[in-house]
Amino acid sequence: MAPVETKTYDYIVIGGGSGGSGSARRASGWYGAKTLIVESGRSGGTCVNVGCVPKKMTWNFASINENLHAARHYGYAVDDNIKFDYAYFKSIRDSRIQRLNGAYENNWGKEGIDLVHGRARFVEPKVIEVTSTDGSETKTRYTAKHFLIAAGGHPIIPGVEGAEHGITSDGFFEIEELPKKWAVVGAGYIAVELAGVLAAVGVETHMFIRGDTFLRKFDPMIQETMTARYEAVGIKIHRQHKGFKEVQLLKEGKGAEKVLKLIGVEGDEIEVNELLWAIGRAPEVEDLKLEIPGVKQARSGHIIVDAFQNTSAEGIYALGDVTGQAELTPGKSFTTIYLGNFVLTREVAIAAGRQLSNRLFGPPEFKTAKLSYENIPTVVFSHPEVGTIGLTEPQARQRFGDDKIKIYKTKFTNMFYDFFPDEEKKHNPTQMKIICAGPEEKVVGLHILGLGVGEMLQGFGVAVKMGATKQDFDSCVAIHPTAAEELVTMR
Ligand code: FAD
Ligand code: NDP
Repeated sequence: MAPVETKTYDYIVIGGGSGGSGSARRASGWYGAKTLIVESGRSGGTCVNVGCVPKKMTWNFASINENLHAARHYGYAVDDNIKFDYAYFKSIRDSRIQRLNGAYENNWGKEGIDLVHGRARFVEPKVIEVTSTDGSETKTRYTAKHFLIAAGGHPIIPGVEGAEHGITSDGFFEIEELPKKWAVVGAGYIAVELAGVLAAVGVETHMFIRGDTFLRKFDPMIQETMTARYEAVGIKIHRQHKGFKEVQLLKEGKGAEKVLKLIGVEGDEIEVNELLWAIGRAPEVEDLKLEIPGVKQARSGHIIVDAFQNTSAEGIYALGDVTGQAELTPGKSFTTIYLGNFVLTREVAIAAGRQLSNRLFGPPEFKTAKLSYENIPTVVFSHPEVGTIGLTEPQARQRFGDDKIKIYKTKFTNMFYDFFPDEEKKHNPTQMKIICAGPEEKVVGLHILGLGVGEMLQGFGVAVKMGATKQDFDSCVAIHPTAAEELVTMR
């Protein structure tokens, strides 16, 4: 048998998503490392294709509907029955994403990165075989001194009979015709965001949660206010739900034609047009044959890495969603405590990727470069948005002790809602909490919800990251009239 030709690179990146792209561009574009990206799906990964980007576009779509309704309270003559064409919206969203796929590939090309569309698996400790995904199933082998595994994750589907009749967030972005009534199972980011967008455009939405509130890893203020807010705008929250034992497809079809019957463990039943499983994500590791290089995994399948993204195998690194890194370094940092078992977000993956390439291929002063996982700001694109950085109140109390922390809180109605009827006004709160520790009142947690807080958090994130105290917040002159000014005037 002829020897298999193996192509050699300095750096091979498995996965052209946020983390892989960020790292490859830094390695090749900045430092000239001969770099290959292997990508088995669409370039740009989860965020671009089935994550942040189409999600935020859909959030914008839903927010426009909310604003059209709000316009009436300002004297605009807006028809009660606002019509929209969701299939049209999906088509323009898809074409924008296609352009982004091309933009990713163009940037890689410009920075001298080679791209191969195929599925990678290890065949030797430092050799991968890539099966091309262009239909030819051609197999090619590659080797490098350095390998990065940035293979991301996929949504979890539970082992419930008929679960396949529902969809995950991937399937959500395929929807062309909206259901009239749908069920969302889960209580994290995706459940809350996607339930929020469809409810905002008039889809009867039922959320099935295991506890009494959703977003249970967030500060209690966020959990309680947001769960109550969703309920107040008509989302039916099924609390303490024990799960479903069976999903029956009663009628196939699109949108309102499809009918599913969900049968609960306790015998409860509901008929809906669509079902979304949003119960978390698992790492995309099944095909990689990680046992060949000896890359150690946690019980959850996540790849175990140290603070420098090193895996247990020399010359093989991992980052982003495939690592679930935050859950694997218990007690090391604020963020670790806060993130719990959260999957990492896009910016974390990109930042970790860039730091890794700085360390591997950059000048000597970068030889100890690593990402600080402390104080990572995050936003839930719910209705309204939620912004959070640092510790929740219970975490701060546990870490510093009750007598060492001071809490500042405020709740008010944004001026935008001034002309809304009282009943609607009260369902649109703005709430803020600053958690301070020690005599100097260092800000160790900041939690905000309300109109525009997603944009608000970025700047305050810089301040918290720099170690700001309450006094630093207060020393900044308030910008009036804004909602953000409350954050620098709280007593
Ligand atoms: P990915 O982006 O998933 O990239 C991994 C890539 O590896 C994929 O393209 C995959 O095809 C490829 N791959 C996997 N296995 C192989 C293999 N064996 N061979 C070749 N290629 C392979 N984050 C935010 O910060 N803000 C948001 O608003 C936000 N919204 C989100 C909404 C949704 C619905 C979801 C699902 C996620 C959202 N996220 C958000 C999270 C964010 O998308 C991820 O954290 C981020 O994309 C992770 O990047 P990554 O590089 O680790 O993995
Ligand atoms: P999350 O981990 O955020 O939430 C999943 C939730 O589902 C759990 O917290 C749990 O809540 C609930 N759950 C778990 N198992 C079950 C079950 N068997 N039955 C019912 N409920 C269950 O995962 P997501 O899938 O929502 O999102 C994945 C990750 O993607 C996020 O962690 C985040 O990092 C990223 N993301 C980021 C976004 C952003 O930055 N805006 C947006 C979307 C995703 P409980 O314990 O309360 O029952």
